[in-house]
Amino acid sequence: MILFCSDLHLDPARPVSRSLFARFLAGPARRADALYILGDLFEYWAGDDDEDPFNAGVCEDLKACAESGVAIRFLPGNRDFLVGGGFERASGARLIDEPTVIEVGGRRALLLHGDTLCTDDADYQDFRARVRAPAWRDRFLGTPVAERRRTIEELRRRSESEKRSKPAMIMDVNPDAAAAALREADATAMIHGHTHRPGHHRFDVDGRSCERWVLPEWSDSGGYLACADNDWHFAEIR
Ligand code: MN
Repeated sequence: MILFCSDLHLDPARPVSRSLFARFLAGPARRADALYILGDLFEYWAGDDDEDPFNAGVCEDLKACAESGVAIRFLPGNRDFLVGGGFERASGARLIDEPTVIEVGGRRALLLHGDTLCTDDADYQDFRARVRAPAWRDRFLGTPVAERRRTIEELRRRSESEKRSKPAMIMDVNPDAAAAALREADATAMIHGHTHRPGHHRFDVDGRSCERWVLPEWSDSGGYLACADNDWHFAEIR
């Protein structure tokens, strides 16, 4: 059994999600062979040298789960793409590239955070390209932690107000981008989060039947996708 979750946005301001995640890691996750976290586990991650006790506590819970024998894989999202080797050591999770293809029940499944599929949002894609450049990352991680945290808080405020003025359609997945990603990876299934629009979509790509599973955001309840061979289903933790 492989489990997938994303978009927990863990933050001291969301104590319910935090305790649901602790329960998830101590319960259903322990019975799985592998757990894939597809980004935005943290509301933000300012760098591995940020000694934030809240995020450190999340890493300790992950590590206990990993040490019990669960393979934990982490594909960073737009909120936590600054994770690195320090995060891996603290959490016992291993970072994976975006996108990654894995085999589940004989199917090739493409794993992404999901933001790269929102191609209609040109402003966001410009911003993403800028901050994902290695030179930007090195420069940013070279500034003091307190300054990084201030910059991130400011970016969060700006992105929240921009989101309110953007048409909802623009912030969803572009169907052509989803089809192109599947074609490129020679996959027939894709699993991602980011949009906070959980669902299971079926469609054809070049005559092949494909599916797209969108993971839910966590708030007063948590949700994850459980995959065992041909039985793929959403499950809830509350
Ligand atoms: Mn996201």
